[in-house]
Amino acid sequence: MSSEFNIIQNCFVGLCRELPAGDLGIGDDAAVLSVPVEHQVVVATDTLVQGIHFPEKTPAQQVAWKALAVNLSDLAAMGAKPWCYSLSLSVPKSLAKQQWFADFSIGLADLCAHLNLKIPLVGGDTTSAKEGALSVTISAQGLVKQGKAVYRRGACVNDWIVVTGNLGEGALGLQVDLDKPEVCSMPKALKLHALKALNTPVPQTAVGQMLSGIVNSAIDISDGLLQDLTHILRQSSFSSHSVAISAENQMQKGLGAKINLQEVPVSEGMKAYFSQTKDWGLALSGGDDYQLCLTVSETNWQALQELAKALNVKVTRIGRIIDRPVIELVGQNKTESLDWQNAENLTFGFQHF
Ligand code: ADP
Ligand code: MG
Repeated sequence: MSSEFNIIQNCFVGLCRELPAGDLGIGDDAAVLSVPVEHQVVVATDTLVQGIHFPEKTPAQQVAWKALAVNLSDLAAMGAKPWCYSLSLSVPKSLAKQQWFADFSIGLADLCAHLNLKIPLVGGDTTSAKEGALSVTISAQGLVKQGKAVYRRGACVNDWIVVTGNLGEGALGLQVDLDKPEVCSMPKALKLHALKALNTPVPQTAVGQMLSGIVNSAIDISDGLLQDLTHILRQSSFSSHSVAISAENQMQKGLGAKINLQEVPVSEGMKAYFSQTKDWGLALSGGDDYQLCLTVSETNWQALQELAKALNVKVTRIGRIIDRPVIELVGQNKTESLDWQNAENLTFGFQHF
């Protein structure tokens, strides 16, 4: 095994790319970065742990892709343009070969190439871990123009609730990975599509950085639609912050959501799964979507649609923000009403503890 110094030199320095004169990335005790004038830095950090966030045997390239993707998804939900990132790796000795690190750095480069992003890796830390306890922490930094970040807290009554892409695909991928009986008969191409969503999710980076001024609130769906929507409802209901909401809306209490289940966008694979199981669980509460859930006024819906069309991103209106603190799930034959404020015992989505 090579020393960590060789590994950093051979595998990671190349991802640092050119920085403005006077700035410094990898190589010293810390990076030094000039913040562009009239911008704010948006910082997201996410850790992926072997066996919890990705299956034990996931190849290094896919682990790297996913670790960066989940961070970029958080930046997208804040309306930020990706700027740079750092990487902290704890790698079991059995994996810590030059090739593993090389593959890992290819995964990072592949995602950036896929998104047409030129963001430098500006530093990190590399340590050993116990066997089976590979852990990857990425902190991604983005930029927003001063005062232009998008928050969870801006949703207003009557806003459309909009999601990008399809929901439940990552969770379906996990069912495939685990060889669950419900997915046995699914065509191979649909299985592969779902596995891809699980292991190499594509964050909504392009659309994310254009959201400011169009949407009232945003969150990325990492823990399942219902759980993440609950965060928007909670923060928008009791907001005393001033961003993008009127004095009247600051007074509003107990927002809710009405969701039309028929409108929730899903892939062909999910449709096949649904026709067999009649279970909406994966699309509503499965984790690992990395799509955006947005709320947008009637007035701005068209602007959002046009933006999404220009970027070739699917956006679907799945419901509305309502003035009662419940989530109403409207199905074909029945409507279910969830009291999200007392949702302690409702397991909506992925929870660690
Ligand atoms: P220190 O002991 O001062 O923390 P390190 O030897 O850990 O320094 O790191 C040396 C340089 O390499 C630092 O600039 C650090 O940011 C960078 N570095 C270490 N690990 C990584 C990594 N996994 N990815 C990118 N840069 C790294
Ligand atoms: Mg260090």
